[in-house]
Amino acid sequence: MKKLLCILLALTMVLSLGVPAFAAEGERPGAAWIDSGIYGVYEGKGEIRLQDDFAAAVNREWAESAKINDGEANVSARTEHTDEINREKIALITGEKKDDEKLTSLQNLYALLLDWDARNAAGLDGLKPFVEDLMGLSSVEEMTAFLSDPQRNLFGTPMVMDMVMGNTEDAFTNILYIMTPAMFSDDPSAYEAGDEESPAIAVNRQLCEYMLRKLGYSESEAKELFDKAMDFERGFLPGLEAMEKKMEGKGTADVFSQRFTTEEIRDMYKNYPLCEIYKALGFDLDGRLVGIMTPDVIGCIDAQYTDENLDKLKAWVLAHTITEFTSYCDRETFAETTLLQAPMTGIDTLPPDEIYAMKTITALVPSLVDEVYVEYCFDKSIKPQIYDLTVMMIDAYREMLREEDWLSDATKAAAIEKLDNIKINVCYPDNLPDVGSLTIKSAEEGGTLFDAIKAARIFGRGIAAEIVQRRNDGTYWKFDNYYSTLAACYVQTENSINVFAGICGGDYYQADWPLEKKLGGVCMVVGHEITHAFDDSGATFDKDGNYKDWWAEEDTAKFHERVDKLKAWYRDFVPAPELSDEPYGEEGANRVSGEAISDLGSVKCLLSIAAKQENFDYEMFFTQLAIIQKNARYAAAELPTLANETHPVEYSRCNVPLSNFEKFHETFGVQEGDGMYTAPADRITVW
Ligand SMILES: [Zn+2]
Repeated sequence: MKKLLCILLALTMVLSLGVPAFAAEGERPGAAWIDSGIYGVYEGKGEIRLQDDFAAAVNREWAESAKINDGEANVSARTEHTDEINREKIALITGEKKDDEKLTSLQNLYALLLDWDARNAAGLDGLKPFVEDLMGLSSVEEMTAFLSDPQRNLFGTPMVMDMVMGNTEDAFTNILYIMTPAMFSDDPSAYEAGDEESPAIAVNRQLCEYMLRKLGYSESEAKELFDKAMDFERGFLPGLEAMEKKMEGKGTADVFSQRFTTEEIRDMYKNYPLCEIYKALGFDLDGRLVGIMTPDVIGCIDAQYTDENLDKLKAWVLAHTITEFTSYCDRETFAETTLLQAPMTGIDTLPPDEIYAMKTITALVPSLVDEVYVEYCFDKSIKPQIYDLTVMMIDAYREMLREEDWLSDATKAAAIEKLDNIKINVCYPDNLPDVGSLTIKSAEEGGTLFDAIKAARIFGRGIAAEIVQRRNDGTYWKFDNYYSTLAACYVQTENSINVFAGICGGDYYQADWPLEKKLGGVCMVVGHEITHAFDDSGATFDKDGNYKDWWAEEDTAKFHERVDKLKAWYRDFVPAPELSDEPYGEEGANRVSGEAISDLGSVKCLLSIAAKQENFDYEMFFTQLAIIQKNARYAAAELPTLANETHPVEYSRCNVPLSNFEKFHETFGVQEGDGMYTAPADRITVW
C-alpha cells in the first residue's frame, strides 16, 4: 500500500514556495552530523562529542555491537522490541492447543507455512488451476465473471488497490477508496518510452518471469507474457499524465475529495463493470459514495477492457496475481524470489523460518494475531498506565496551545476544542466488530497451505467489506491498525490517537521506569501523535475528522510561514552525507514536514511537563529520546528507504528537535559553534 501512496504523493506535489536558502552557502543545516544510522559508520571515527552530534554519541556503543538479523535491512529500537514481541507470539502459536478457534487457526496456518516437505512437494500446484482458468477466458464478459468470483479471482479485488477509511467530508461514515490499478511501479515516468526499464519494473519482471517458468512456460513465453502485461499497464500513461495535470498545486485532501456515486461510476466506465465486480466480491456499494483517487487512470482500465485487448488484459491479471504468491510456494521459489527483490529492499539474506512464518501470518490475518497476542501475551495492567500518560500529555498540550503567542484567541479556542475531542485509543480495543471467523484446517485434517492462504485472503477482504458498511461511531478501532505491532498513529478522519500494545515495551516503556525515561520513550510517541492533529496536513481536519477549515485567516498565514521555515531547513538538509550529497530538496521536505513538525511539538510538550517536576533528570530524559531513534541499516538500503519515507532519517529525529531547545543546550553545555547548536533566530519549531 505504501508504494501506492507514494504515487499519490507524487501526484499531489505542492508548488514550490520560493523560500530563500536557509543557511549561507557552505553551511548546510546539520553539517556537523553523520548519518549514524548506517551500519558500520563509526569505523575509524574518532571521538564524537554529545555537543556536536547527540544521536551518534549516545548510540555509538550500541551500534558498534548491534547485529542485523538475517532477512532484515536494519536493527533499531523498533526491531529489537519487535523481536521480543515475535518471540512471545511464536511461543504462543507453537505452544499447547487451547479451546480457542482463532488461536487454533493461527497454529494451523503457522504449521502449514513451515511444513516445507509438503510445500516442496506441492510447488506451484495451487496456482496451476488458476492460471489455466484465467488463460482459457475467451471474452471480457468471461473475464468479468472470473474477476467477480472470490474463489477464482485470487488477486481479490477488481485489479485495483483499495482501502477503507473515514470519509473526509462526513467523518462518521466509512468509505471505500480505490487508489490506483495494480501497477508494477509507483513512478509515472517508468511508463514513458525509454531504453531502460526502471528498477521496480525490472525487479517485477524477474519475479514474474521466474514464477511463469516454474509454472511451465518457456523463457520466451514468460518474457512475452510480461511484455504483454506491461503493454497493458503502459496504457495507463494518458491517465497518469491527466491526473498529474489535474492535481498540480493541489493537496492530499483534493485527492480524497474525488468521490462518486455508483451511478456516476457506471457512467464513467462503460466497459469495465467496477461496481458490479465489487458487489460480487462482497462489497455492497449501492447508495454509497466511492472514493476514486485516480479516476483517469482507472479510466484507462476501462478503455482497454475490450475483447481486442483480452490477451494483454489476461497477461496483466496473471502477472499481478502470481507475483502475490511468491512466498507461499516451495522453498526454492521463496528463497530465489526474496533475493531477486534485493535491489529494491537492500536485503540479501533470508529471515529465519519462524520469523518468516510469523510475518506472513501477521500480514495475512493481522486482526487474529492482535487478538491472541492481547489475550495471552500482553500484560493488561499496562493499559490504564498508558492511558494516564496520554491524558497527562493532552493536558500539557492544552497549556502549550494556550501559550502560543502567535495564535488569535478564536483559533486557539478551536485548536483546544479539537484537542479535547481527540479520541484516545491505547493498547487494544475493548470492543471488536463481529466479522465472522476463519477456520484453517491442519494438514492432518486435510488442509493445504494454498487453501489456507486463499481463505485468509478472502477473510481479510470480508473484514474490509464489513467495515465499509459500518458507522464510524467510535465504538471500535479501525481494523487496519495492527495493535500488536510496534506502532502508533493519528487518524485524521477520526481525530484519534492510537498507541498500540506493541509499542508499550522495549526502549519505549517499562512500568518500573522513572518518569524521565517514560517521557523520553512512549510519551515522545504520544506527543508526536497529538501534534499530528496540528501538523500541516492534520490542521486541515476539524475536531470530528472532517476536512474543514477552522482557522482564522491571519493565523493560517502565520502557520504557513512557520511551516515554510521548517521546510526550508529540510530542503537543504542532506540526510545521508556518507552516501550522497543530495539534500531532501523541495519534494523531500514536503514529504517529511508533517513528521518533523510532530517531533518538535512533542519535545516542547514533554519539556513543559519536565519543567513542573522536582529534580528532573534532563540528561536521562534527552538520552532516552536518542535511544528510541537508535538505528543501524545496511548502507545499500539507506537511500532506497529514505526515498519514500515520510519520517526524517532516524538520527535527525533526535538531533533536530533537541538542537532547537534551550533546555538541551543548557543541560549539555552546548555552545555556539557546536554541532548541536541552533541560534534562536534559526529555530524551526512550528508549535
Ligand atoms: Zn508520525
